Amino acid sequence: MRSITAVDVTQKPSAASRVRDEPSVHDSFTEQRFQSITGPLDNHLLAALPEPDFARLAPHLEQVLMPLGEVLYEPGGRLQHVYFPTTAIISLHYTCENGASAEIAGVGNEGMLGVSLFMGGDTTPSGAVVQTAGHGYRLASQRLVEEFNRGGPMLRLLLRYSQALLTQVAQTGACNRHHSVAQQLCRWLLLTLDRLPTNDLVMTQELIASMLGVRRESVTEAAGTLKDDGVISYRRGHITVLSREGLQTHVCECYAVVKAEFDRLLGDVLYQ
Ligand SMILES: [Zn+2]
Repeated sequence: MRSITAVDVTQKPSAASRVRDEPSVHDSFTEQRFQSITGPLDNHLLAALPEPDFARLAPHLEQVLMPLGEVLYEPGGRLQHVYFPTTAIISLHYTCENGASAEIAGVGNEGMLGVSLFMGGDTTPSGAVVQTAGHGYRLASQRLVEEFNRGGPMLRLLLRYSQALLTQVAQTGACNRHHSVAQQLCRWLLLTLDRLPTNDLVMTQELIASMLGVRRESVTEAAGTLKDDGVISYRRGHITVLSREGLQTHVCECYAVVKAEFDRLLGDVLYQ
């Protein structure tokens, strides 16, 4: 296999710490998530590494706070770090020239942000922003590439994760084109719930509309139907899932397709 080396890992100057202009969510729920103690093993990929491999990486893993709206990667930017979320969720998205945007995939405690680094492409046209505030661990890109080039468990793990991520990306595209906003909303809520230890999401309908790439009014209508059916409740900046079964009743097949592929490829990782 050709050896991959990290070339210039200089990020665009604006990428590291800019926070999007989002509604303030520094409420008690967010504070709890920030204060909750997590370790790197709360990320399933890191937890799946054999002990010697994890021990080699552990001194280089740096815990980072991820506030809602923080931009981790700008489109086309070089990757200085890869991220292993523990309680945070990151949204990969593409923003069109006209300003419209849509989520391509989400990355939570099941995965890693930065696959383009070891795939050899180095950058992507999509950006990455924190969708749910929390913690994660970051690793210098060079370290990740070195570990990948060892050809050991990390390589096999990351390739399997990449295949599962590709399924999520492809299914999101099909879902956005062919399924109703209500179905898309249920898919998105279920995938988000799977990455959280709670059924309470700090999230505005405006942000969801931006992630699904639809009008806010369409999300309001879909959320209203789910609320009337007793599936969710919401107040400003929060959505609480009251019935997971209700979401599964309303959702299209896309959630199950993505989940089945993650289970097939990473089942031994996710449930060990
Ligand atoms: Zn769908």
